[in-house]
Amino acid sequence: MTTVDLASPAAPAAPAAFDQYPVHALMHVTQRPAAVFTHGRGSWLWDSSGRRYLDLVQGWAVNTLGHAPPAIARALAAQAARLLQPGPGLYNDRAVELAQRLTALSGLDRCYFTGGGAEANEGAIKLARKFGALHRGGAFQIVTFENAFHGRTLATMSASGKPGFERLFEPKVPGFPKARLNDIDSVAALLGPQTVAVMLEPIQGEAGVIEATPEFLRALRRLCDDLGLLLIFDEVQTGIGRTGQWWGWQASGVQPDVMTLGKGLGGGVPIGALLARERVCCFAPGDQGGTYHGNPLMCAAALAVLDAVAASGFLEQVRERSGQLRQGLQAIADALGSGPVRGRGLLLALDLRQPEQATQAAQALLQQAQGDAPGLLVNAVRPQRLRFVPALDITADEIDLALQMLRAVLLR
Ligand SMILES: *Cc1c(COP(=O)(O)O)cnc(C)c1O
Repeated sequence: MTTVDLASPAAPAAPAAFDQYPVHALMHVTQRPAAVFTHGRGSWLWDSSGRRYLDLVQGWAVNTLGHAPPAIARALAAQAARLLQPGPGLYNDRAVELAQRLTALSGLDRCYFTGGGAEANEGAIKLARKFGALHRGGAFQIVTFENAFHGRTLATMSASGKPGFERLFEPKVPGFPKARLNDIDSVAALLGPQTVAVMLEPIQGEAGVIEATPEFLRALRRLCDDLGLLLIFDEVQTGIGRTGQWWGWQASGVQPDVMTLGKGLGGGVPIGALLARERVCCFAPGDQGGTYHGNPLMCAAALAVLDAVAASGFLEQVRERSGQLRQGLQAIADALGSGPVRGRGLLLALDLRQPEQATQAAQALLQQAQGDAPGLLVNAVRPQRLRFVPALDITADEIDLALQMLRAVLLR
């Protein structure tokens, strides 16, 4: 029997150059750097040539505990040996336990598990439409926002306000009028007898880290309460401690009727969740399902993530690291003469001055990986804006190193 050494990352037997990999076997759906990544640990990632990278992208805000965390590896190994897939037609202990933990943490009443964020949002849209059919005379429209991102299924692309999506895969799913974030009048102007819900991200992540203000969220809550509309928060990116609190909405005190999770929930393992208040939970048997929904392997990983984030001092550490990173980024912004650092917790963004400067900086930082010298992975969320979404357990030394590398490239 072979044993897995969880203390050190499992490097491949021999280094292999990029051109030894038949990458054309994969469909080309995004521009990727010329490296094949093979192993990681915490905030560090290695490619097949043995080059190392300090990773402040973490699978796009997914790896709550960094790469290949031993806690998740142990949970997966134990669960894989016990029960993989009883199927969605049977209860399993892991899904029940995870649902109980998430409802207790969020104050919402019931939970439905999915394979990721878009599927959770798709479920939220279906739940709202069912609610409209039952309680609001067939109302089905969900007000969403310009520049919002809710996923890549047809309905969630239609709900998104990403400019690049406009001409893709027409015709779109109807029923998603777009308002402007932080403009309550633009929401009110779209409401009518067909409206059933308002859906938004507490911080628009893919748009470039744009926060919904607490005043705006409170005004939305009042509007929804007055008119009997559902308030849906897409916390796929902001949930599970990313903002320094469990949920992005906690900064405003505004609780949603429906909330979706993904990304950080599984810490690198694909799982999403849809949570709702009791009065909204109107799915009847046959309305919603999915072969892998509530799969205990994924739920076991999510439970390991929750254990880590709930540990004493963990969220305080996130807030401390956030302060350190923000301060360092703000010093760079001041030196560049660009605006204030955006975001909260470990979801931060830095505006640059020159067009394409973020794209170029991200590339230059990656290419610093040579021999023993590390590269730095950062996300150019916009050509002129860098986004930082490190592991929530990144260390102070790793943030110092990242800031030093950023200064060297941006302020030279
Ligand atoms: C990433 C993301 C999604 C989509 O999640 P997938 O797991 O990629 O389907 C939806 N909403 C927000 C806010 C996201 O950041």
